[in-house]
Amino acid sequence: MQDIAADMRLRLHLFSSNGIERGGIHGWMFFDRPLASERVFSLLKTIVGGQQIETFPKQPSIPPTGFGNWMRVFGRHYKRAEWARYWGGRGWLTAEQTIDAILRIEPDDADLVPQVRQEIRITSRPIYRGHRRHFAETAESLQSWLESKGVTVKAIKPCHDGSTRLILGLCPFHPDHGDGPNDTSVVVFWTPSGPRFCCQHNRCKSFKWRDLRAKLDPDYVPHDLELTPINWESLARKVVQRYADPDDVTPKRG
Ligand SMILES: [Zn+2]
Repeated sequence: MQDIAADMRLRLHLFSSNGIERGGIHGWMFFDRPLASERVFSLLKTIVGGQQIETFPKQPSIPPTGFGNWMRVFGRHYKRAEWARYWGGRGWLTAEQTIDAILRIEPDDADLVPQVRQEIRITSRPIYRGHRRHFAETAESLQSWLESKGVTVKAIKPCHDGSTRLILGLCPFHPDHGDGPNDTSVVVFWTPSGPRFCCQHNRCKSFKWRDLRAKLDPDYVPHDLELTPINWESLARKVVQRYADPDDVTPKRG
């Protein structure tokens, strides 16, 4: 499993979980920023293959009113005086060495985690009317979609009203907006009724979610352009050509 992770330039850190005599190993992966649970879930499924190994998260997503799963962190065993030990490649480190090993762990680049394909029901066909509704089922799927379009989501904050703030690293319209770790001026809100975009800078005041989506998704057909009128003249010309060609001996169909 470490090799599978290494092929993706990711590291799987192994810890003994029940004392090294009793067996039991926990593998940990560390990333430099939060990732959508469905993306991590998919990664872990790839790494464990078909083996019966428990993963956290246990599911790709949880409903808005649901909650995730308890998990044990490394440290002292919850019942016995056994301490987590780090796998150093050739053997288990001592408990003291394990502390140093933990402190030296560098988180992996979250961008190296593969995107989950077709995770969002999104279509650019004209029959798709709602540019808000049904676009992103969860804040995580919205995050994944934004990331798949090259937008950095640097923080996620739940709001009291049930919506979620996805704070963007840089404004997609003006990259000088939102720069810096504490700048929270560029936000995409996930709400149960659909996403909203808000950049607090003057130059971006007029940009709404639909503008952002059109910018990120060139196939996106804005709501009011979907009902393109049929060009009757062009259609009529095609019909006339088709039936007026004397060399065309194929049977005509009604
Ligand atoms: Zn902006």
